[in-house]
Amino acid sequence: MGKSENLRSLPKVDAVLEAPVVQELTGRYPRDLVVDGVRSVIDAWRREILEDGDASGGRDLSIEKLARDLQGWLEAKFEPSLKKVINATGVVIHTNLGRSLLSASAIKAAVLAASSYSNLEFNLETGERGSRHSHIERILCELTGAEAAMAVNNNAAAVLLALSAMAAGKEAIVSRGELVEIGGSFRVPDVMRQSGAVLKEIGTTNKTYASDYRVAVTEETALLMKVHPSNFRIVGFTHEAALAELVELGREISIPVMQDLGSGVLVDLRRFGLPYEPTVQESIEAGVDIVTFSGDKLLGGPQAGIIVGRKEYIDKMKKHPLARAIRLDKMTIAALETTLKEYLDLEKVVTTNPTLRMITEDKASVKRRADRLAKRIAGVAGGLADISVDREVARVGGGSLPLAEIPTAVVVVRPRISCAALEAGLLAGGSPVVVRVKDDALLIDPRTIQPDEEKELVEAFRIALSGGDA
Ligand SMILES: *Cc1c(COP(=O)(O)O)cnc(C)c1O
Repeated sequence: MGKSENLRSLPKVDAVLEAPVVQELTGRYPRDLVVDGVRSVIDAWRREILEDGDASGGRDLSIEKLARDLQGWLEAKFEPSLKKVINATGVVIHTNLGRSLLSASAIKAAVLAASSYSNLEFNLETGERGSRHSHIERILCELTGAEAAMAVNNNAAAVLLALSAMAAGKEAIVSRGELVEIGGSFRVPDVMRQSGAVLKEIGTTNKTYASDYRVAVTEETALLMKVHPSNFRIVGFTHEAALAELVELGREISIPVMQDLGSGVLVDLRRFGLPYEPTVQESIEAGVDIVTFSGDKLLGGPQAGIIVGRKEYIDKMKKHPLARAIRLDKMTIAALETTLKEYLDLEKVVTTNPTLRMITEDKASVKRRADRLAKRIAGVAGGLADISVDREVARVGGGSLPLAEIPTAVVVVRPRISCAALEAGLLAGGSPVVVRVKDDALLIDPRTIQPDEEKELVEAFRIALSGGDA
């Protein structure tokens, strides 16, 4: 059969819909969708025949084949686009893979909030309207020592709200060394412009002194702002004004000091052998008026932007029209409240909070898991790849702890097929696996692989190495 004959033999929509195999699908799916699907499959077949030309002989154009393609088309329609993936990269706060995982209790709280009515904005003591801020404000104050607190959609929104409420139409003074880009189009100068605050840059890229802030202050100044260099470090011949100096200046001239801490940690990470990262408590203790930070970076909670500090400014922010536009939903509030309450027990939070657990897991423990995983992958590789275990360094990611190199162990997979082919095969499977590629090998870091994912991971390797046969 040639091209034109094939085109003439394409099934007709009406005839297809009459066929019992397709009628069976009409019983399970909406009829309109089935009709769309039949058209779409026939169109696809027509395109293939036109592309293949006379080489398209021997093509199966039966109704049975069409019903099979149609079923695939219908199933794909209902398949979620947002899928679970296995993070084998060792990057704990991987922004592209959803940053932090929630603790078991935080997941439970979010599910409860989603599946039942709640006192989201209802005061159970008075039986009257309550505030959604109430669920997280007290615990945030307790953990950070702040006077007041609130949370919004993310830290970018927190910075926007704080600037809008405190400095719109006025000047905010920022060091040139802190006009940073965080990624995903969050640039401090752009956010400032959006808020209506006028950016007044001072100092230089590598050195800014407290005196630079002092001489820049005018009648128009509304805010002294500091931004934490979350995702980079300036080293060498550098100076930045100490928080205490800025706070002192702010007090003297009655102008508030705001700090965007970015990641925002509540525990001193040096306890776990990690580099120093300023804590939220330290900033509040130093007298900073407003501190903002993310919920899903090192805090290890849901996506959120947390604002803590002086009540007079937080009250202004709660009443600002923008607050409503960037408010948190109930599932996030539930997850955030639980995440925060777990910090009341600092010994335990390191095991219950997945982000903290993963960045603090010791090398020996990761090595044990890597050894076990290597054996299992070798077991299914059947000589199609060389498998070994090696030392490596893991990164925290998500614009947090840019210099931290966490010693880790990885499974090194050198496939007979190309690395690119194996990598693509691992992404195409039912449980996509994201790996690191280095020097013609795939690196699998157990640090970010969850305990219940090992079996799926091994199965994904079996399928991908054997060329995709399930
Ligand atoms: C990450 C980060 C932000 C943005 O926070 P999101 O929660 O991702 O919106 C803003 N400022 C700094 C310093 C950051 O590190």
